Amino acid sequence: MAGTPVVLLFDFDRTIIDDDSDRWVVTEMGLTSLFNKLRSTLPWNSLMDGMMKELHSRGQTAEDITECLKRTPMDPCIVAAIKAAHALGCDLRVISDANQFFIETILKHHGLLGCFSRIYTNPSFVDEDGRLRIFPFHDLNSSPHGCKLCHATMCKGQVIDEIQASVSGNSTKNFIYLGDGHGDYCPTLKLGGSDYVMPRKNYPLWKRISCEPLLVKAKVHEWSTGEELKRILLYLIDTITIQDNIGKHQSV
Ligand SMILES: [Mg+2]
Ligand SMILES: [Zn+2]
Repeated sequence: MAGTPVVLLFDFDRTIIDDDSDRWVVTEMGLTSLFNKLRSTLPWNSLMDGMMKELHSRGQTAEDITECLKRTPMDPCIVAAIKAAHALGCDLRVISDANQFFIETILKHHGLLGCFSRIYTNPSFVDEDGRLRIFPFHDLNSSPHGCKLCHATMCKGQVIDEIQASVSGNSTKNFIYLGDGHGDYCPTLKLGGSDYVMPRKNYPLWKRISCEPLLVKAKVHEWSTGEELKRILLYLIDTITIQDNIGKHQSV
């Protein structure tokens, strides 16, 4: 069903997967004490890049990291929701402060990578020595994003601005933004009255929206479990699609 006017924007950690991918790899691969020791001394991306350097020096390969990532918990209802939304013709994108290698590995493992048209995240690759390298999305020195709401590593609101500019053509698009964290608040404020935000209940984004609900123009639909996410998301896609069809008939 081509032409569905719905753009789905997903945070990754604790939204698509039920954990934080950085935390998962650090814990599962025995890096916790080194991570805690260096945490206050380095920017987040440099810290994670350093963790990957440590794994490499211990003889652990990118394949070992891949195997670890494959065990990250993901609710089967969320896998089903993503596949269903893609089958309905929605444009699905990930906006995440994790990194390309972690996200692509996990999505691929669940057969979901092909469902997403773009992934906006910190770039990463395996270098010639077999070490996984992680770099910042915004260059912290040459082009800091300057947003006071967001951490230095990524302003998701700036990403939303770019997406809104790139998809706004002759047909109206409706955005549904799904997230849980502090970093998802800035993009939430960028959404308009015909958009939706789905914050994970009792997580930081939900709490922030609940404190000052009038600041958010988008309609708010909270969720707790993967089953709820799937049910609400598919209901919203259905609602937007029906309204879009009515609008098209009225304008003929
Ligand atoms: Mg998150
Ligand atoms: Zn921001």
